[in-house]
Amino acid sequence: MNQSKTSLNPDVVIVGAGVAGIYMLHKLKNTGLTTVVLEKSDELGGTWNWNRYPGARCDIPSLEYSYQFDEELQQDWNWSEKYSAQPEILEYLNHVADRFDLRKDISFEEEVLEAKFNEELSLWDIKTNKEVYQSKFCIFATGCLSVPNKPDIEGLEEFEGQLLSTSYWPREKVDLADKNVAIIGTGSSSIQTIPEIAKEVKNLYVFQRTPNYSIPSNNGPMDKGVEADIKSRYAEFRKENWKNGFGIAGISDEALIAESDIDEVNNQLEDNWKNNGLGFFGGYADVPIDANSNEVAAAFVRNKIKEIVKDPKTADKLSPKYHIGGKRLCVDTGYFETFNRENVHLIDLHSSPINRIGKSNIEADQEYDIDTLILATGFDAMTGALTSLDIVGRNGIILRDQWKQGAKSYLGLGVSNFPNLFTITGPGSPSVLSNMMPSIEQHVNWIADCIGWMIDNNKNVIESSLSAEEEWMDLVNEIAGMTIFKSTESWYNGSNIDSKAKAFLPFIGVPVYTEKLEEVTSNNYQGFIFDTSNN
Ligand code: NAP
Repeated sequence: MNQSKTSLNPDVVIVGAGVAGIYMLHKLKNTGLTTVVLEKSDELGGTWNWNRYPGARCDIPSLEYSYQFDEELQQDWNWSEKYSAQPEILEYLNHVADRFDLRKDISFEEEVLEAKFNEELSLWDIKTNKEVYQSKFCIFATGCLSVPNKPDIEGLEEFEGQLLSTSYWPREKVDLADKNVAIIGTGSSSIQTIPEIAKEVKNLYVFQRTPNYSIPSNNGPMDKGVEADIKSRYAEFRKENWKNGFGIAGISDEALIAESDIDEVNNQLEDNWKNNGLGFFGGYADVPIDANSNEVAAAFVRNKIKEIVKDPKTADKLSPKYHIGGKRLCVDTGYFETFNRENVHLIDLHSSPINRIGKSNIEADQEYDIDTLILATGFDAMTGALTSLDIVGRNGIILRDQWKQGAKSYLGLGVSNFPNLFTITGPGSPSVLSNMMPSIEQHVNWIADCIGWMIDNNKNVIESSLSAEEEWMDLVNEIAGMTIFKSTESWYNGSNIDSKAKAFLPFIGVPVYTEKLEEVTSNNYQGFIFDTSNN
Protein backbone atom coordinates (compact mmCIF):
# COMPACT_ATOMS: atom_id res chain seq x y z
CA MET A 1 0.00 0.00 0.00
CA ASN A 2 0.98 3.67 0.06
CA GLN A 3 4.58 3.93 1.30
CA SER A 4 4.30 7.66 2.01
CA LYS A 5 1.72 7.23 4.76
CA THR A 6 2.22 9.28 7.88
CA SER A 7 1.02 8.48 11.34
CA LEU A 8 -2.10 10.59 10.70
CA ASN A 9 -3.07 8.73 7.57
CA PRO A 10 -2.01 5.17 8.14
CA ASP A 11 -3.35 2.19 6.23
CA VAL A 12 -4.91 0.79 9.36
CA VAL A 13 -6.22 2.31 12.58
CA ILE A 14 -6.77 -0.17 15.39
CA VAL A 15 -8.93 1.01 18.26
CA GLY A 16 -7.87 -0.41 21.62
CA ALA A 17 -4.61 -1.84 22.95
CA GLY A 18 -5.96 -4.83 24.83
CA VAL A 19 -5.31 -8.49 24.04
CA ALA A 20 -6.83 -8.05 20.56
CA GLY A 21 -5.26 -4.71 19.63
CA ILE A 22 -1.79 -5.81 20.70
CA TYR A 23 -1.85 -8.95 18.57
CA MET A 24 -3.50 -7.18 15.60
CA LEU A 25 -0.68 -4.64 15.63
CA HIS A 26 1.95 -7.37 15.78
CA LYS A 27 0.29 -9.34 13.01
CA LEU A 28 0.30 -6.37 10.61
CA LYS A 29 3.80 -5.27 11.56
CA ASN A 30 5.79 -6.79 8.74
CA THR A 31 3.17 -6.58 6.03
CA GLY A 32 4.21 -3.20 4.66
CA LEU A 33 1.04 -1.60 6.05
CA THR A 34 1.32 1.40 8.32
CA THR A 35 -0.66 0.85 11.45
CA VAL A 36 -1.47 2.89 14.52
CA VAL A 37 -3.25 1.77 17.68
CA LEU A 38 -5.32 4.33 19.56
CA GLU A 39 -5.73 3.60 23.25
CA LYS A 40 -7.87 5.61 25.64
CA SER A 41 -5.85 4.67 28.72
CA ASP A 42 -2.25 5.57 29.50
CA GLU A 43 -1.55 1.82 29.73
CA LEU A 44 -2.15 -1.14 27.47
CA GLY A 45 -4.02 -4.26 28.56
CA GLY A 46 -7.69 -3.40 27.96
CA THR A 47 -9.85 -5.39 30.33
CA TRP A 48 -6.75 -6.39 32.35
CA ASN A 49 -5.81 -2.76 32.74
CA TRP A 50 -9.20 -1.49 33.88
CA ASN A 51 -10.45 -4.38 36.02
CA ARG A 52 -8.00 -4.17 38.93
CA TYR A 53 -10.41 -5.04 41.71
CA PRO A 54 -9.13 -7.25 44.57
CA GLY A 55 -9.28 -10.92 43.54
CA ALA A 56 -9.39 -10.24 39.78
CA ARG A 57 -8.00 -13.21 37.92
CA CYS A 58 -8.78 -15.19 34.79
CA ASP A 59 -11.11 -18.15 35.12
CA ILE A 60 -9.64 -20.14 32.26
CA PRO A 61 -6.30 -21.79 33.08
CA SER A 62 -3.43 -19.51 32.11
CA LEU A 63 -1.78 -22.19 30.03
CA GLU A 64 -4.83 -21.77 27.78
CA TYR A 65 -5.60 -18.12 28.45
CA SER A 66 -2.45 -16.91 26.70
CA TYR A 67 -1.29 -16.22 23.17
CA GLN A 68 -0.23 -19.11 20.97
CA PHE A 69 1.00 -17.15 17.95
CA ASP A 70 4.65 -17.42 18.92
CA GLU A 71 6.07 -20.75 20.05
CA GLU A 72 9.06 -19.18 21.81
CA LEU A 73 6.81 -16.84 23.74
CA GLN A 74 4.59 -19.65 24.96
CA GLN A 75 7.61 -21.73 25.92
CA ASP A 76 9.45 -18.89 27.66
CA TRP A 77 6.63 -17.43 29.71
CA ASN A 78 5.97 -19.11 33.07
CA TRP A 79 2.72 -18.52 34.90
CA SER A 80 2.96 -18.70 38.67
CA GLU A 81 -0.56 -20.02 39.26
CA LYS A 82 -3.09 -22.20 37.48
CA TYR A 83 -5.40 -19.18 37.12
CA SER A 84 -3.30 -16.03 37.02
CA ALA A 85 -4.21 -12.88 38.84
CA GLN A 86 -4.77 -9.59 37.03
CA PRO A 87 -1.31 -8.08 37.82
CA GLU A 88 0.46 -11.08 36.28
CA ILE A 89 -1.71 -11.01 33.16
CA LEU A 90 -1.04 -7.30 32.77
CA GLU A 91 2.69 -7.96 33.19
CA TYR A 92 2.44 -10.64 30.49
CA LEU A 93 0.72 -8.28 28.05
CA ASN A 94 3.36 -5.63 28.71
CA HIS A 95 6.04 -8.26 28.15
CA VAL A 96 4.48 -9.16 24.79
CA ALA A 97 4.35 -5.49 23.76
CA ASP A 98 8.04 -5.02 24.66
CA ARG A 99 9.21 -8.35 23.28
CA PHE A 100 7.71 -7.58 19.86
CA ASP A 101 8.52 -3.86 20.01
CA LEU A 102 4.90 -2.76 19.68
CA ARG A 103 4.75 0.19 22.04
CA LYS A 104 6.03 2.75 19.53
CA ASP A 105 2.93 2.29 17.36
CA ILE A 106 0.47 2.71 20.21
CA SER A 107 -0.80 6.19 20.96
CA PHE A 108 -1.89 6.32 24.60
CA GLU A 109 -4.49 8.59 26.18
CA GLU A 110 -6.08 8.95 22.79
CA GLU A 111 -9.79 8.29 22.75
CA VAL A 112 -11.72 7.77 19.54
CA LEU A 113 -14.78 10.00 19.51
CA GLU A 114 -16.05 9.41 15.99
CA ALA A 115 -15.24 7.19 13.02
CA LYS A 116 -16.90 8.21 9.76
CA PHE A 117 -16.66 6.47 6.41
CA ASN A 118 -15.82 8.95 3.67
CA GLU A 119 -17.67 7.46 0.70
CA GLU A 120 -15.99 9.63 -1.88
CA LEU A 121 -12.49 8.56 -0.89
CA SER A 122 -13.39 5.15 0.58
CA LEU A 123 -11.43 6.08 3.68
CA TRP A 124 -12.26 6.28 7.37
CA ASP A 125 -12.09 9.71 9.03
CA ILE A 126 -11.33 9.06 12.67
CA LYS A 127 -11.64 11.85 15.20
CA THR A 128 -10.01 11.49 18.60
CA ASN A 129 -9.55 13.79 21.58
CA LYS A 130 -6.20 14.78 20.02
CA GLU A 131 -6.10 14.29 16.25
CA VAL A 132 -7.98 13.48 13.08
CA TYR A 133 -6.82 10.38 11.26
CA GLN A 134 -7.68 9.13 7.81
CA SER A 135 -7.15 5.44 7.18
CA LYS A 136 -8.18 2.79 4.73
CA PHE A 137 -9.16 0.22 7.34
CA CYS A 138 -10.53 0.67 10.81
CA ILE A 139 -10.37 -2.27 13.20
CA PHE A 140 -12.28 -2.20 16.45
CA ALA A 141 -10.42 -4.18 19.10
CA THR A 142 -12.53 -2.71 21.84
CA GLY A 143 -13.49 -5.86 23.72
CA CYS A 144 -16.80 -7.46 24.60
CA LEU A 145 -17.00 -6.32 28.21
CA SER A 146 -15.55 -2.84 28.34
CA VAL A 147 -18.39 -0.36 28.79
CA PRO A 148 -19.73 -0.55 32.35
CA ASN A 149 -23.44 -0.66 33.09
CA LYS A 150 -24.19 2.10 35.56
CA PRO A 151 -27.32 1.20 37.51
CA ASP A 152 -30.21 3.61 37.52
CA ILE A 153 -30.80 3.78 41.27
CA GLU A 154 -32.36 6.82 42.87
CA GLY A 155 -29.88 8.86 44.87
CA LEU A 156 -26.73 7.25 43.45
CA GLU A 157 -25.45 10.62 42.25
CA GLU A 158 -25.87 12.09 45.73
CA PHE A 159 -23.84 9.44 47.53
CA GLU A 160 -21.03 11.27 49.36
CA GLY A 161 -18.96 8.29 50.51
CA GLN A 162 -16.28 6.46 48.56
CA LEU A 163 -17.74 5.23 45.25
CA LEU A 164 -15.86 2.43 43.49
CA SER A 165 -16.52 0.27 40.47
CA THR A 166 -14.96 -3.14 39.83
CA SER A 167 -14.47 -2.18 36.20
CA TYR A 168 -12.57 1.06 36.95
CA TRP A 169 -10.77 0.12 40.15
CA PRO A 170 -8.09 2.62 41.22
CA ARG A 171 -4.44 1.73 40.64
CA GLU A 172 -3.34 2.63 44.13
CA LYS A 173 -4.27 0.28 46.96
CA VAL A 174 -7.72 1.00 48.35
CA ASP A 175 -7.82 0.74 52.11
CA LEU A 176 -11.12 -0.78 53.15
CA ALA A 177 -10.01 -1.80 56.61
CA ASP A 178 -12.70 -1.30 59.24
CA LYS A 179 -15.11 0.27 56.77
CA ASN A 180 -18.75 -0.47 56.21
CA VAL A 181 -18.87 -1.46 52.57
CA ALA A 182 -21.77 -2.24 50.23
CA ILE A 183 -21.42 -4.05 46.93
CA ILE A 184 -24.20 -4.13 44.34
CA GLY A 185 -24.20 -7.06 41.91
CA THR A 186 -23.22 -10.70 42.23
CA GLY A 187 -21.69 -11.62 38.85
CA SER A 188 -18.15 -12.91 38.23
CA SER A 189 -16.48 -9.62 39.21
CA SER A 190 -18.30 -9.41 42.51
CA ILE A 191 -17.85 -13.11 43.23
CA GLN A 192 -14.09 -12.61 42.95
CA THR A 193 -14.09 -9.35 44.93
CA ILE A 194 -16.26 -10.38 47.89
CA PRO A 195 -14.02 -13.09 49.45
CA GLU A 196 -11.00 -10.78 49.24
CA ILE A 197 -12.47 -7.64 50.76
CA ALA A 198 -14.54 -9.51 53.36
CA LYS A 199 -11.26 -10.27 55.13
CA GLU A 200 -10.57 -6.60 55.90
CA VAL A 201 -13.84 -4.66 56.01
CA LYS A 202 -15.89 -4.09 59.14
CA ASN A 203 -19.17 -5.04 57.49
CA LEU A 204 -19.84 -6.10 53.93
CA TYR A 205 -23.40 -5.71 52.65
CA VAL A 206 -23.94 -7.73 49.48
CA PHE A 207 -26.94 -6.50 47.46
CA GLN A 208 -27.97 -9.39 45.26
CA ARG A 209 -30.56 -9.15 42.50
CA THR A 210 -29.97 -12.58 40.97
CA PRO A 211 -27.80 -15.29 42.52
CA ASN A 212 -25.20 -16.99 40.36
CA TYR A 213 -23.92 -20.52 39.96
CA SER A 214 -20.27 -20.56 40.90
CA ILE A 215 -17.73 -23.38 40.84
CA PRO A 216 -14.59 -23.42 43.00
CA SER A 217 -11.45 -22.70 41.02
CA ASN A 218 -9.23 -24.81 43.27
CA ASN A 219 -6.55 -22.42 42.18
CA GLY A 220 -3.00 -22.92 43.33
CA PRO A 221 0.63 -22.62 42.28
CA MET A 222 1.35 -23.84 38.77
CA ASP A 223 1.88 -27.59 38.77
CA LYS A 224 5.30 -27.85 37.13
CA GLY A 225 4.55 -31.37 35.86
CA VAL A 226 1.37 -30.24 34.11
CA GLU A 227 3.17 -27.19 32.70
CA ALA A 228 6.05 -29.29 31.34
CA ASP A 229 3.65 -31.79 29.81
CA ILE A 230 1.58 -29.10 28.07
CA LYS A 231 4.65 -27.23 26.89
CA SER A 232 6.01 -30.44 25.38
CA ARG A 233 2.93 -30.61 23.12
CA TYR A 234 1.61 -27.08 23.16
CA ALA A 235 0.43 -26.86 19.55
CA GLU A 236 -1.36 -30.19 19.81
CA PHE A 237 -2.91 -29.18 23.17
CA ARG A 238 -4.29 -25.98 21.68
CA LYS A 239 -5.65 -27.85 18.69
CA GLU A 240 -7.42 -30.42 20.88
CA ASN A 241 -9.07 -27.70 22.95
CA TRP A 242 -10.25 -25.90 19.85
CA LYS A 243 -12.27 -28.97 18.83
CA ASN A 244 -14.47 -28.59 21.90
CA GLY A 245 -17.75 -26.65 21.74
CA PHE A 246 -16.45 -23.77 23.85
CA GLY A 247 -12.83 -24.13 22.74
CA ILE A 248 -11.65 -24.90 26.26
CA ALA A 249 -9.90 -28.05 27.56
CA GLY A 250 -12.09 -30.45 29.52
CA ILE A 251 -15.30 -29.07 28.08
CA SER A 252 -15.74 -31.81 25.55
CA ASP A 253 -19.12 -33.07 24.44
CA GLU A 254 -19.19 -36.79 24.95
CA ALA A 255 -21.90 -38.35 27.11
CA LEU A 256 -25.51 -37.33 27.79
CA ILE A 257 -26.82 -37.02 31.34
CA ALA A 258 -30.18 -38.18 30.00
CA GLU A 259 -28.67 -41.52 29.01
CA SER A 260 -26.32 -42.00 31.98
CA ASP A 261 -26.66 -43.66 35.35
CA ILE A 262 -27.47 -40.90 37.89
CA ASP A 263 -24.85 -42.10 40.41
CA GLU A 264 -22.20 -42.06 37.74
CA VAL A 265 -23.29 -38.57 36.71
CA ASN A 266 -23.07 -37.30 40.29
CA ASN A 267 -19.61 -38.87 40.68
CA GLN A 268 -18.49 -37.19 37.49
CA LEU A 269 -19.95 -33.83 38.58
CA GLU A 270 -18.18 -34.22 41.94
CA ASP A 271 -14.93 -34.74 40.09
CA ASN A 272 -15.64 -31.76 37.85
CA TRP A 273 -16.54 -29.62 40.89
CA LYS A 274 -13.16 -30.41 42.40
CA ASN A 275 -11.05 -30.04 39.28
CA ASN A 276 -12.66 -28.31 36.34
CA GLY A 277 -13.87 -24.82 37.27
CA LEU A 278 -15.57 -23.43 34.18
CA GLY A 279 -15.45 -26.94 32.71
CA PHE A 280 -17.91 -28.13 35.34
CA PHE A 281 -20.24 -29.69 32.73
CA GLY A 282 -17.24 -31.46 31.22
CA GLY A 283 -18.24 -34.59 29.40
CA TYR A 284 -21.97 -33.89 29.17
CA ALA A 285 -23.27 -32.51 25.91
CA ASP A 286 -26.89 -32.16 26.98
CA VAL A 287 -26.54 -29.68 29.89
CA PRO A 288 -26.96 -26.67 27.57
CA ILE A 289 -29.80 -28.19 25.55
CA ASP A 290 -31.92 -30.49 27.71
CA ALA A 291 -33.74 -28.77 30.59
CA ASN A 292 -33.95 -31.99 32.64
CA SER A 293 -30.26 -32.76 32.28
CA ASN A 294 -29.50 -29.16 33.05
CA GLU A 295 -31.51 -29.46 36.24
CA VAL A 296 -29.34 -32.40 37.38
CA ALA A 297 -26.22 -30.23 37.16
CA ALA A 298 -28.04 -27.22 38.66
CA ALA A 299 -29.33 -29.26 41.62
CA PHE A 300 -25.83 -30.58 42.22
CA VAL A 301 -24.52 -27.02 42.65
CA ARG A 302 -27.49 -25.97 44.78
CA ASN A 303 -26.74 -28.91 47.11
CA LYS A 304 -23.14 -27.79 47.35
CA ILE A 305 -24.29 -24.28 48.34
CA LYS A 306 -26.50 -25.83 51.03
CA GLU A 307 -23.56 -27.86 52.33
CA ILE A 308 -21.18 -24.88 52.40
CA VAL A 309 -23.39 -22.07 53.71
CA LYS A 310 -24.34 -22.67 57.33
CA ASP A 311 -27.44 -20.48 57.52
CA PRO A 312 -30.17 -22.25 55.48
CA LYS A 313 -31.98 -18.99 54.65
CA THR A 314 -28.80 -17.44 53.27
CA ALA A 315 -28.03 -20.66 51.38
CA ASP A 316 -31.48 -20.55 49.82
CA LYS A 317 -31.08 -16.91 48.76
CA LEU A 318 -27.70 -17.74 47.21
CA SER A 319 -29.17 -20.64 45.23
CA PRO A 320 -30.08 -19.82 41.64
CA LYS A 321 -33.31 -21.28 40.32
CA TYR A 322 -32.73 -20.77 36.58
CA HIS A 323 -30.86 -23.02 34.11
CA ILE A 324 -27.22 -23.46 35.01
CA GLY A 325 -24.92 -21.95 32.39
CA GLY A 326 -27.67 -19.70 30.96
CA LYS A 327 -25.96 -16.81 32.69
CA ARG A 328 -22.17 -16.95 32.50
CA LEU A 329 -20.92 -19.54 35.00
CA CYS A 330 -18.69 -18.03 37.68
CA VAL A 331 -15.51 -19.49 39.13
CA ASP A 332 -14.52 -18.48 42.64
CA THR A 333 -12.12 -18.80 45.50
CA GLY A 334 -14.15 -19.24 48.67
CA TYR A 335 -17.23 -17.28 47.55
CA PHE A 336 -20.01 -19.23 49.26
CA GLU A 337 -17.81 -19.82 52.35
CA THR A 338 -17.57 -16.04 52.78
CA PHE A 339 -21.25 -15.89 53.73
CA ASN A 340 -20.40 -17.84 56.91
CA ARG A 341 -18.48 -14.81 58.17
CA GLU A 342 -20.24 -12.68 60.72
CA ASN A 343 -19.31 -9.45 58.98
CA VAL A 344 -20.90 -10.45 55.66
CA HIS A 345 -24.62 -9.81 55.12
CA LEU A 346 -26.68 -10.82 52.10
CA ILE A 347 -29.56 -8.58 51.06
CA ASP A 348 -31.92 -10.15 48.56
CA LEU A 349 -33.20 -7.41 46.30
CA HIS A 350 -36.17 -9.47 45.17
CA SER A 351 -37.71 -9.38 48.62
CA SER A 352 -36.15 -6.05 49.67
CA PRO A 353 -35.42 -3.77 46.71
CA ILE A 354 -33.20 -0.73 47.10
CA ASN A 355 -35.52 2.24 47.63
CA ARG A 356 -32.81 4.82 47.32
CA ILE A 357 -29.20 5.58 48.02
CA GLY A 358 -28.64 8.36 50.52
CA LYS A 359 -25.58 10.50 51.21
CA SER A 360 -24.11 7.78 53.41
CA ASN A 361 -26.54 4.90 53.34
CA ILE A 362 -28.62 2.51 51.28
CA GLU A 363 -32.30 2.15 52.01
CA ALA A 364 -33.71 -1.32 51.37
CA ASP A 365 -35.47 -3.51 53.99
CA GLN A 366 -33.64 -1.29 56.49
CA GLU A 367 -31.08 1.50 56.35
CA TYR A 368 -27.50 0.39 55.86
CA ASP A 369 -24.94 3.02 56.86
CA ILE A 370 -21.94 2.73 54.57
CA ASP A 371 -18.57 4.35 53.98
CA THR A 372 -17.94 2.75 50.60
CA LEU A 373 -20.18 1.66 47.74
CA ILE A 374 -18.84 -0.73 45.10
CA LEU A 375 -20.70 -1.10 41.81
CA ALA A 376 -20.21 -4.53 40.28
CA THR A 377 -23.16 -4.18 37.97
CA GLY A 378 -21.69 -5.54 34.75
CA PHE A 379 -21.33 -4.22 31.24
CA ASP A 380 -23.16 -3.16 28.11
CA ALA A 381 -21.82 -6.41 26.72
CA MET A 382 -20.63 -7.11 23.18
CA THR A 383 -22.03 -3.94 21.62
CA GLY A 384 -21.42 -1.17 24.20
CA ALA A 385 -17.97 -0.23 22.96
CA LEU A 386 -19.27 0.07 19.40
CA THR A 387 -22.50 1.92 20.12
CA SER A 388 -21.16 4.35 22.70
CA LEU A 389 -19.33 6.38 20.06
CA ASP A 390 -20.43 7.62 16.66
CA ILE A 391 -19.43 5.08 14.05
CA VAL A 392 -20.89 6.43 10.83
CA GLY A 393 -21.13 4.27 7.72
CA ARG A 394 -22.58 4.70 4.24
CA ASN A 395 -25.29 7.32 3.79
CA GLY A 396 -24.60 8.75 7.22
CA ILE A 397 -26.03 5.76 9.04
CA ILE A 398 -24.84 5.40 12.63
CA LEU A 399 -24.05 1.90 13.84
CA ARG A 400 -25.95 2.53 17.07
CA ASP A 401 -29.10 3.24 15.02
CA GLN A 402 -28.58 0.32 12.65
CA TRP A 403 -28.40 -1.97 15.70
CA LYS A 404 -31.38 -0.48 17.54
CA GLN A 405 -33.48 -3.62 17.03
CA GLY A 406 -30.51 -5.89 17.78
CA ALA A 407 -26.92 -6.09 16.62
CA LYS A 408 -26.35 -7.83 13.29
CA SER A 409 -22.93 -8.72 12.01
CA TYR A 410 -21.57 -11.21 9.52
CA LEU A 411 -19.46 -13.68 11.51
CA GLY A 412 -18.77 -11.04 14.16
CA LEU A 413 -16.22 -9.59 11.74
CA GLY A 414 -18.01 -7.15 9.46
CA VAL A 415 -21.21 -5.13 9.30
CA SER A 416 -23.21 -4.11 6.23
CA ASN A 417 -23.01 -0.36 5.47
CA PHE A 418 -19.67 -0.18 7.28
CA PRO A 419 -17.05 -0.94 4.62
CA ASN A 420 -13.44 -1.69 5.51
CA LEU A 421 -14.40 -1.87 9.16
CA PHE A 422 -13.61 -5.02 11.09
CA THR A 423 -14.57 -5.99 14.61
CA ILE A 424 -12.51 -8.47 16.59
CA THR A 425 -14.83 -10.90 18.42
CA GLY A 426 -17.89 -8.90 17.44
CA PRO A 427 -21.50 -10.03 17.95
CA GLY A 428 -22.25 -13.22 16.02
CA SER A 429 -18.92 -14.85 16.84
CA PRO A 430 -18.16 -17.34 19.66
CA SER A 431 -16.20 -14.69 21.63
CA VAL A 432 -17.61 -14.70 25.16
CA LEU A 433 -18.79 -18.30 24.75
CA SER A 434 -15.25 -19.44 24.10
CA ASN A 435 -11.75 -18.94 25.38
CA MET A 436 -11.32 -15.30 24.33
CA MET A 437 -7.57 -15.58 23.68
CA PRO A 438 -7.68 -18.09 20.79
CA SER A 439 -10.92 -16.51 19.51
CA ILE A 440 -9.11 -13.19 19.30
CA GLU A 441 -6.17 -14.81 17.55
CA GLN A 442 -8.52 -16.50 15.10
CA HIS A 443 -10.09 -13.16 14.17
CA VAL A 444 -6.80 -11.29 13.98
CA ASN A 445 -5.33 -13.95 11.68
CA TRP A 446 -8.45 -13.90 9.54
CA ILE A 447 -8.53 -10.08 9.22
CA ALA A 448 -4.83 -9.93 8.34
CA ASP A 449 -5.27 -12.67 5.71
CA CYS A 450 -8.33 -10.93 4.31
CA ILE A 451 -6.53 -7.59 3.94
CA GLY A 452 -3.59 -9.43 2.33
CA TRP A 453 -5.98 -11.14 -0.10
CA MET A 454 -7.58 -7.81 -0.98
CA ILE A 455 -4.17 -6.34 -1.80
CA ASP A 456 -3.19 -9.35 -3.89
CA ASN A 457 -6.50 -9.23 -5.76
CA ASN A 458 -6.70 -5.48 -6.24
CA LYS A 459 -9.79 -5.08 -4.11
CA ASN A 460 -10.24 -1.75 -2.46
CA VAL A 461 -13.34 -2.02 -0.31
CA ILE A 462 -14.88 -4.95 1.54
CA GLU A 463 -18.35 -4.99 3.10
CA SER A 464 -20.65 -7.67 4.52
CA SER A 465 -23.52 -8.44 2.22
CA LEU A 466 -26.85 -7.69 3.81
CA SER A 467 -28.24 -11.13 3.00
CA ALA A 468 -25.19 -12.98 4.40
CA GLU A 469 -25.45 -10.93 7.58
CA GLU A 470 -29.20 -11.61 7.94
CA GLU A 471 -28.75 -15.34 7.33
CA TRP A 472 -25.86 -15.52 9.76
CA MET A 473 -27.69 -13.80 12.61
CA ASP A 474 -30.73 -16.01 11.95
CA LEU A 475 -28.43 -18.99 12.43
CA VAL A 476 -26.95 -17.49 15.61
CA ASN A 477 -30.46 -17.20 17.04
CA GLU A 478 -31.64 -20.53 15.68
CA ILE A 479 -28.80 -22.35 17.44
CA ALA A 480 -29.33 -20.36 20.65
CA GLY A 481 -33.04 -21.21 20.39
CA MET A 482 -32.16 -24.89 20.76
CA THR A 483 -30.43 -24.22 24.07
CA ILE A 484 -31.13 -23.00 27.56
CA PHE A 485 -29.26 -19.78 26.72
CA LYS A 486 -32.28 -18.42 24.91
CA SER A 487 -34.65 -18.82 27.85
CA THR A 488 -32.38 -17.35 30.53
CA GLU A 489 -32.05 -13.63 31.12
CA SER A 490 -28.41 -12.66 30.73
CA TRP A 491 -26.05 -10.18 29.21
CA TYR A 492 -25.65 -12.66 26.32
CA ASN A 493 -29.11 -11.55 25.15
CA GLY A 494 -29.12 -7.95 26.33
CA SER A 495 -31.46 -8.62 29.28
CA ASN A 496 -29.20 -6.87 31.79
CA ILE A 497 -29.88 -3.45 30.25
CA ASP A 498 -33.48 -2.26 30.01
CA SER A 499 -32.98 -0.05 26.98
CA LYS A 500 -31.12 -2.69 24.97
CA ALA A 501 -32.69 -4.81 22.23
CA LYS A 502 -33.21 -8.37 23.38
CA ALA A 503 -31.26 -10.44 20.89
CA PHE A 504 -28.84 -13.28 21.46
CA LEU A 505 -25.37 -12.10 20.49
CA PRO A 506 -22.64 -14.76 20.64
CA PHE A 507 -22.41 -17.76 18.30
CA ILE A 508 -22.58 -21.08 20.12
CA GLY A 509 -20.07 -23.64 18.90
CA VAL A 510 -16.40 -23.01 18.18
CA PRO A 511 -15.93 -25.95 15.75
CA VAL A 512 -18.93 -25.06 13.56
CA TYR A 513 -17.84 -21.44 13.52
CA THR A 514 -14.28 -22.37 12.60
CA GLU A 515 -15.51 -24.53 9.74
CA LYS A 516 -17.68 -21.69 8.47
CA LEU A 517 -14.76 -19.24 8.56
CA GLU A 518 -12.61 -21.66 6.57
CA GLU A 519 -15.38 -22.18 4.04
CA VAL A 520 -15.89 -18.43 3.63
CA THR A 521 -12.16 -17.88 3.12
CA SER A 522 -11.69 -20.70 0.66
CA ASN A 523 -14.62 -19.38 -1.39
CA ASN A 524 -12.96 -15.99 -1.88
CA TYR A 525 -14.64 -14.44 1.16
CA GLN A 526 -18.13 -15.60 0.32
CA GLY A 527 -20.79 -13.38 1.85
CA PHE A 528 -18.64 -10.28 1.60
CA ILE A 529 -18.96 -7.89 -1.32
CA PHE A 530 -16.03 -6.01 -2.81
CA ASP A 531 -15.85 -2.55 -4.38
CA THR A 532 -19.61 -2.20 -4.41
CA SER A 533 -22.30 -1.42 -1.87
CA ASN A 534 -25.45 -3.16 -0.65
CA ASN A 535 -27.59 -0.32 -2.00
P1 NAP B 1 -22.40 -9.39 35.44
O1 NAP B 1 -22.10 -10.82 35.35
O2 NAP B 1 -23.27 -8.80 34.41
O3 NAP B 1 -22.97 -9.11 36.87
C1 NAP B 1 -23.56 -7.89 37.18
C2 NAP B 1 -24.36 -8.04 38.44
O4 NAP B 1 -24.94 -6.80 38.77
C3 NAP B 1 -25.49 -9.04 38.31
O5 NAP B 1 -25.60 -9.74 39.50
C4 NAP B 1 -26.69 -8.12 38.08
O6 NAP B 1 -27.91 -8.70 38.44
C5 NAP B 1 -26.33 -6.98 38.97
N1 NAP B 1 -27.00 -5.74 38.63
C6 NAP B 1 -26.96 -5.05 37.48
N2 NAP B 1 -27.73 -3.95 37.55
C7 NAP B 1 -28.25 -3.93 38.79
C8 NAP B 1 -29.12 -3.07 39.48
N3 NAP B 1 -29.63 -1.97 38.89
N4 NAP B 1 -29.46 -3.37 40.75
C9 NAP B 1 -28.96 -4.45 41.34
N5 NAP B 1 -28.15 -5.33 40.74
C10 NAP B 1 -27.79 -5.07 39.48
O7 NAP B 1 -21.05 -8.51 35.43
P2 NAP B 1 -19.59 -8.93 35.92
O8 NAP B 1 -19.64 -9.57 37.23
O9 NAP B 1 -18.72 -7.74 35.78
O10 NAP B 1 -19.15 -10.00 34.88
C11 NAP B 1 -19.35 -9.81 33.50
C12 NAP B 1 -18.60 -10.83 32.72
O11 NAP B 1 -17.23 -10.48 32.70
C13 NAP B 1 -18.61 -12.22 33.30
O12 NAP B 1 -19.80 -12.89 33.04
C14 NAP B 1 -17.40 -12.82 32.64
O13 NAP B 1 -17.68 -13.19 31.33
C15 NAP B 1 -16.46 -11.64 32.63
N6 NAP B 1 -15.59 -11.71 33.81
C16 NAP B 1 -14.64 -12.66 33.79
C17 NAP B 1 -13.82 -12.79 34.86
C18 NAP B 1 -12.78 -13.83 34.82
O14 NAP B 1 -12.34 -14.29 33.82
N7 NAP B 1 -12.32 -14.23 35.90
C19 NAP B 1 -13.95 -11.98 35.97
C20 NAP B 1 -14.95 -11.00 35.96
C21 NAP B 1 -15.76 -10.89 34.86
P3 NAP B 1 -28.81 -9.49 37.35
O15 NAP B 1 -28.13 -10.80 37.13
O16 NAP B 1 -30.12 -9.59 38.00
O17 NAP B 1 -28.82 -8.65 36.10
